[in-house]
Amino acid sequence: DTIGANLARTIAAHPDRDALVDRGSGRRLTYRDFGAEVDRVALGLLGLGVAKGDRVGIWAPNRAEWVFVQYATARIGAVMVNINPAYRTHELEYVLNQAGISVLVAAPSFKTSDYAGMIEEVRGKCPELRELLLFGGSAWESLLAAGDQGDPARLAGVEATLSPDDPINIQYTSGTTGFPKGATLSHHNILNNGYSVGELLGYTEIDRIAIPVPFYHCFGMVMGNLAATSHGACMVIPGPGFDPATALDAVQAEGCTSLYGVPAMFIAELALPDFDSYDLSTLRTGIMAGSPCPVEVMREVIDRMGMAEVSICYGMTETSPVSTQTRRDDSVERRVSTVGRVGPHLEVKIVDPESGVTVPRGTPGELCTRGYSVMLGYWNQPDRSAEAIDAGRWMHTGDLAVMDEDGYVGITGRIKDMVIRGGENIYPREIEELLHTHPDLLDAQVVGVPDERYGEELMAWVRMREGTEPLTAEALRAFCRGRIAHYKIPRYVHVVDEFPMTVTGKVRKVQMREEAVRLLG
Ligand code: ATP
Ligand code: MG
Repeated sequence: DTIGANLARTIAAHPDRDALVDRGSGRRLTYRDFGAEVDRVALGLLGLGVAKGDRVGIWAPNRAEWVFVQYATARIGAVMVNINPAYRTHELEYVLNQAGISVLVAAPSFKTSDYAGMIEEVRGKCPELRELLLFGGSAWESLLAAGDQGDPARLAGVEATLSPDDPINIQYTSGTTGFPKGATLSHHNILNNGYSVGELLGYTEIDRIAIPVPFYHCFGMVMGNLAATSHGACMVIPGPGFDPATALDAVQAEGCTSLYGVPAMFIAELALPDFDSYDLSTLRTGIMAGSPCPVEVMREVIDRMGMAEVSICYGMTETSPVSTQTRRDDSVERRVSTVGRVGPHLEVKIVDPESGVTVPRGTPGELCTRGYSVMLGYWNQPDRSAEAIDAGRWMHTGDLAVMDEDGYVGITGRIKDMVIRGGENIYPREIEELLHTHPDLLDAQVVGVPDERYGEELMAWVRMREGTEPLTAEALRAFCRGRIAHYKIPRYVHVVDEFPMTVTGKVRKVQMREEAVRLLG
C-alpha cells in the first residue's frame, strides 16, 4: 500500500470516529473530516505545481496542519522533509539546500523562535526554494482556497502513478552524536513500521494516543501518526511543545489509552507536584523509547501511571524507526529491562564491530538490522549510506547491544559513549541504572573524561530531586561501593538543573563531555 491508499481504507472503515484532536488550537476532526482536509492541502499543492518527487519542507511544532501536510504530500508523492523545530539560520539553510526544498510550509514562529524572520534571512541563499507558506498567512489561505476548487479526479490520477517504494520522506537524525543526516524513507518503510508498532500495542479504532513527542521525528510521525491512522485510532496533540502538565491534562480530558514519551518526558510527568491529582485511569499502554529507558522509571510508569502494557521500542531514524519492541504478553521483568525482540519481518544480529562476525548470545556487540525498514539511503550522500548499510543490506546502528537466548535485546549504549578506563570497557548505562535507584536523584548520566593515568575517568552528571541536598562525589562513591565494581565508580560528580538535550529529548553526551573537560580544566 501507499500511505494515501492506506488512509483511504481507514476513512472508509471508520468515517465517524475521531482521527485528530489538536488541543493547542481546539480543532477536532473525524476521519471523514480529516480526509477532506488532507485532500484540500493535496489539491492545493498540486495547484502550486508540486510534482511527484519534489521536496516539500515542513518546519513547525506539533499542530493539526502538520499532519495534513504529512498525508497530503504522501498522497501526491512529494517528498516531505521534516525540519527540526530547534534549528537556527545556519542549519535551516543547510537543510533547504541539502534536500533541495522547493516549497516550505512553516509556522510563523514558535516560542521565542521567529521562523518567518529566519526564513527571510536565508531565502536569498536557497535558489531552489520558490514557495513559502506560513500557517495562517495569505499564501497558505490561498492554497486552501485553491484546494477547495481543485478537481478530485486529478488527485486520483496522480495517486495512481505512485509506488510504495517511492521515497516519501526525508527525516534528519536527532544530531545527538554530530551533524544530522537525512534518511530517505519510502511509503513501504514507514507505513509498515507504523502499522507494525500499532499491531504489537494492540491498537484498534477505540484507542486514543497522546503524542507529546515532536512530529518532526519518526517517534511522532510514524510510531504516532501512522500507527494511529493505519488502525483507525485517534491522534491527540497535547500542544505545540512538550510540557508535562499539558501532556497529562490531555490524557485526562481526552480519555487517552496510550501515552508516548522519551524517558525525560516520563520523568518530568512523574515529578509533577500534583501528579496524584490526575485521573489517568484510561491509560492502557504507551511507548517509551528514544534513549535508554531506566528500569526504575519504567516501573513507575506501570505502577503510578497505570500503563500496564507499556512497551519499550528501540530503533533509529534510518530504520523507519523501530527494530525491536517489547510485546504485551512479555513478562514485566522483560518489559522494564529489555528493548524486546525483533519486530515482524525484520532481522537483527549482534556483531563484533571490528570483524563483523556475529557474537555468541550474551556477548556485547554492534546491533545490525535488516529488512523492509532499512532506509533507501542518506539523501544525496552515497558515501555515508555505504558506510552505514553494508553489501548484505544490513544497517549498522552504532549501538552496542546484547541478545539473550530467547532473542530479547538489551541496549548497553552507543559505541561512541563507551568508556575505556585502564583497559576496562565500561558501559555508562549500567552505572546510570544504579544511580536511578538513589532516592535523592531525579536523573543521572555518566560520561567519560580524559585522564592521564587511566586514559579515561568517569563523571556522573546528576539532577537532584526537589528538597534534597546536592550530592557530593564522596557520597556518590559511598553509594556505589559494594554495588558495582570499583573501576566503574565515577570519580567526579557534577550537579545540574538540566542536561543538554536535543529537541527529541535525548541527552547530548557529546556536549557534556566537552563541558566536563572545561570543568576539570
Ligand atoms: P545522530 O544519529 O544524528 O547522532 P540519533 O542517533 O540520536 O542522532 P535518532 O535516529 O533519533 O538520532 O536516534 C536513534 C538512536 O537513539 C539509536 O541509535 C539509539 O542510540 C537511541 N535509542 C533509541 N531507542 C532506544 C532505546 N529504547 N534504548 C536505548 N537507546 C535508544
Ligand atoms: Mg544515529
